Amino acid sequence: MPDYLTEILHACGDDAGALADYIPELASADPDRLAVCLSTIDGTLYRAGDSDTEFSIQSISKPFVYALALAEHGLDHVLDRIGVEPSGEAFNELSLERDSRRPRNPMINAGALAAHALVGDPGDDVDTRVERVRRLMSDFAGRELHVDRTIYESEMSQAYRNLAIANMLRSYGVISQHPRDVVHGYTQQCAISVTTSDLATMGATLAAGGVQPTTGKQVVPEQVARQVLSVMMSCGMYDAAGDWMTTVGFPAKSGVSGGILGALPGQLGMAVFSPRLDSHGTSTRGVRICTRMSADMGLHIMQAPEPARSTVRRDRTLRGPDGSLARVCSLQGSLQFGSVERVLRTVTDGMPIAVFVLDLRRVSSVNDVARRMLAEMLRRLQLDGADVALLDPDHVLHLSEQAVVRLPERWTSLAALEGYERV
Ligand code: GLN
Repeated sequence: MPDYLTEILHACGDDAGALADYIPELASADPDRLAVCLSTIDGTLYRAGDSDTEFSIQSISKPFVYALALAEHGLDHVLDRIGVEPSGEAFNELSLERDSRRPRNPMINAGALAAHALVGDPGDDVDTRVERVRRLMSDFAGRELHVDRTIYESEMSQAYRNLAIANMLRSYGVISQHPRDVVHGYTQQCAISVTTSDLATMGATLAAGGVQPTTGKQVVPEQVARQVLSVMMSCGMYDAAGDWMTTVGFPAKSGVSGGILGALPGQLGMAVFSPRLDSHGTSTRGVRICTRMSADMGLHIMQAPEPARSTVRRDRTLRGPDGSLARVCSLQGSLQFGSVERVLRTVTDGMPIAVFVLDLRRVSSVNDVARRMLAEMLRRLQLDGADVALLDPDHVLHLSEQAVVRLPERWTSLAALEGYERV
């Protein structure tokens, strides 16, 4: 992995684009910095390039503050105030949804300012709110992060656009605080210093359903992580969201300091840093690196997973000495709706079965719907008079007494099928 990441940095080509200069301090950043990091959801961090260089998180803070608002107030409360539709507009557009007057989503500045204002109690002062945000982002990173005052003051000196957006939000009643306070808090949120390694770890925490890979702490509930990743997928790249979805294909968020954070649910978090930006305010080399990694490593979320049939290891019908039929169905891997549906569909085909053996010895996991479907299948087979045998020494099916009628004693191994012949 480290060799691969180094090779990607060498191969990412000439840089193009410009530094963000509407924040004066960002215009003085070293434009040639380059880093890529990948964190697995069990906490292994691979890195290459300037992975320990600190820079301000900027818009990559938005998903985390949205997560905080969701964790504190619940989905409905937040949805009443901030939408989830891609805006197709630049990140700093002065716009609201026509009828609801909500900001379209929490990834553009209008929605991010509204999400920031939701943190804590409406009457909290700027410092209290910023401290809550700083603490949560530190929990995501697994280390104490801090606000870079120089960046914060530099952005505040030119924050006319964000002040305009905050005034618009206040005039429509989306925020109740003084617009100036919300911009001060939000700008500090954007000025929190991170490294590329931090961002990869923060992405891995989202990918792991909110569990921080190194500390093991459940930083936000699983449902919150899912909501945040969904909004990142559809809105994280602003007016380039469709392009990103089709070419790179994993949830991500960019920031004007040159970072991009990505997360592939259940697998990994990754981050890139290269300060020169394209016209959307996204790192030019960062996009190129993410595109290449997605292709090389099969990270596109719409890539069809393993076909369901590969989980049916063997499915045989046997005839017993008395002429009755037994079916032995052996499954493997992780069972989900698609694989279990195949089994259920064929169970009701053909001649009545006197014995059904379900062999789960090679199954590694069963998700909730697959578990319910299999339990219901076994229950109905028994109601139809079949003897049902379950080979599940590791209890992957978690069958409760209520879910199935008691299994006959003799059906605890395949030895009971002696004398049966293949049909
Ligand atoms: N602090 C920046 C702003 O509000 C963040 C923008 C960004 O990273 N896209 O303008």
